[in-house]
Amino acid sequence: MMPAKLTPPSHAIPCPACAGASRFLLSATDRNRKTTAENFNYYSCANCGLIFIESCPKDMGPYYRGGYDPIPNSLEALREIAKREHFRSDPILRYQKGGRFLELGPWRGVLCSLMRDAGFEVTAIERDEACVSFLRNTIGVDAIQSVDPLETMRTMETGFDAIAAWHSMEHLPAPWLVIQEAARLLNPGGILLLAMPNPDSFEFRVLKSRWMHLDAPRHLYLFPVQPLIKLCGEQGLKLLEITTADEFSDIQSQQNWVSLARSVSNLRLIRAPLWRLFYLLGRRWQKKEGRGSAYCAVFARPAARLSQ
Ligand SMILES: [Zn+2]
Repeated sequence: MMPAKLTPPSHAIPCPACAGASRFLLSATDRNRKTTAENFNYYSCANCGLIFIESCPKDMGPYYRGGYDPIPNSLEALREIAKREHFRSDPILRYQKGGRFLELGPWRGVLCSLMRDAGFEVTAIERDEACVSFLRNTIGVDAIQSVDPLETMRTMETGFDAIAAWHSMEHLPAPWLVIQEAARLLNPGGILLLAMPNPDSFEFRVLKSRWMHLDAPRHLYLFPVQPLIKLCGEQGLKLLEITTADEFSDIQSQQNWVSLARSVSNLRLIRAPLWRLFYLLGRRWQKKEGRGSAYCAVFARPAARLSQ
């Protein structure tokens, strides 16, 4: 099937988060999964900095065909994976040693498993039925199946010590409201971990619509770092740390260059040296703090002031 012709729109549309004026940024197709030949327009808000898709498809289900990493067949197999992925839980464990943890969109539950093994009482909100079953029956955490985490969060009682959205916030229809709800659900002193693709990255600047982590149309929004910090600040959340130079950012970067090399040639003999060449060439800029492929940010809801 031939992709439809790219026709940048002549009109700008208001930012869904702040209603500010926006400018057309780019058009992208589903390069990663090729679920459709449609073009998706992305805009950038001149007021708050948010990058957003023009219209969020009503039913995202068909665009998720193929899923993500395979679900392991046992808890032991998941723990083997989790052993190598402590970079997911370490930023939380630097500030919280136990209590109640909520994860939004955990997929197969690597972080849920790490947090459970660290002694937390874990709740997860996940859209995929097979994942929910694995989270409940194999990992043994409280998993709620929902395609609308915001609505689910609105029904929940407060009292979480940590909440995380590990590369899931960009998939949600109104992430700014999810952040607001997370701030409500956190205990004073509670931690919010947000890991997302970095639109300030060297890769996005160079590759634009060919950047793997634009992932149209599954990624509905991209938050540059400063607007994210401002948005969280408006909800009373204070930034504790942020980096684009963690291990996961490097993994994301490698995946991006592999994907680009694959689009040049499917022949392994060409693809394999090519992605390494891309990766090495980009490394100097990519490694600069703020320019990495993804960021991991930790915010805190300040502890309540003691009454005088
Ligand atoms: Zn805006």
